[in-house]
Amino acid sequence: MNKTFDLQTLVRTNIRDLKPYRSARDDFDSGILLDANENSYGAPYANDLELHRYPMPYQEALRAKIADYRGIDASEVFVGVGSDEAIDLLFRIFCTPRKDRILINPPTYGMYKVSANINDVAIDEVLLTEDFQLQTEKILEAVTPNTKIIFICSPNNPTANDIAIPDIQFILESFDGIVVVDEAYIDFSQQGSLATELKNYPNLVVLQTLSKAFGLAGIRLGVALANTEIIAYMMKVKAPYNVNKLTSKAALQAFDALDSVQEHIISIIDDRQRIMSSLASMKGVLKVYPSNANFFIFKVNDALNVYQKLADKGVIIRYRGNEPLCDNCLRLTIGTENENNAFLKALTEVLEE
Ligand SMILES: *Cc1c(COP(=O)(O)O)cnc(C)c1O
Repeated sequence: MNKTFDLQTLVRTNIRDLKPYRSARDDFDSGILLDANENSYGAPYANDLELHRYPMPYQEALRAKIADYRGIDASEVFVGVGSDEAIDLLFRIFCTPRKDRILINPPTYGMYKVSANINDVAIDEVLLTEDFQLQTEKILEAVTPNTKIIFICSPNNPTANDIAIPDIQFILESFDGIVVVDEAYIDFSQQGSLATELKNYPNLVVLQTLSKAFGLAGIRLGVALANTEIIAYMMKVKAPYNVNKLTSKAALQAFDALDSVQEHIISIIDDRQRIMSSLASMKGVLKVYPSNANFFIFKVNDALNVYQKLADKGVIIRYRGNEPLCDNCLRLTIGTENENNAFLKALTEVLEE
């Protein structure tokens, strides 16, 4: 439990005082709707989604589905255009440009830094340990009175490991700003979601997405889970119609196909184990790092060259050797069995050349 956290002093004053845009649908959503300058003749082609009408501003149905799935309240759920929108909104709600700071733990997801740069917010960095865990004491030492957000990614991208829950809880209890725990890969992990702890941590924001385990990167649906007051700020600052009707329909359908989501997760994890064991015994692979996600990193000599030669053979993986602690590391996303076999074959050839 964090007893000294005070949300109202943390929020930027312009956001605290903001009167949100009031859309036509806030007033009425049925009747003869001649209030929103829509085109009552309809879309130029047949569809069953009433695409000529604006979408619901607050996405009640989808948020209720997600809340149900995660065992929380719908008022603790924000949906946006990918996690990227949630990240950007958190900057705009909590960080005054050129004054406030955030803290990240490299090597980690690149978007925190990009979003900080876009919002002109300074970044402090505390590296992960050699086994990619948090340096909790160093993080607290690096916190300044202007540090508003600490970003923690678990399972972490690009290293693929879970971050130890007690370490995250220690940060949540000791830091009076917002702690964002990015759980983009949580459904591949055995470690449960921190979303179940929302009631204990008023400063916790959990990010999730339909882009990975749910296989819907194309619809751009990201989720933030946090206490009701933080979610209310996110709803107030977001663009009025951020999630479109095509996306919310596709997202709702996914929650009616959870068996299939689960089957894909199991297949991906099974094949990940197979590929990781193959690599572990492959000549030229120096190290395979453990994974709790749908990807993993491994180390080879001259990784950039291996990456390029794989690309020449049509197999595209990610070079991560420029990241701290990831010298000569490549990151492989687990694909279908056939794709994975094509990768194994190509890598064997490249390493034998
Ligand atoms: C892929 C990924 C996301 C997903 O972002 P979306 O905008 O929801 O697609 C978020 N965080 C991390 C760490 C990721 O790797």
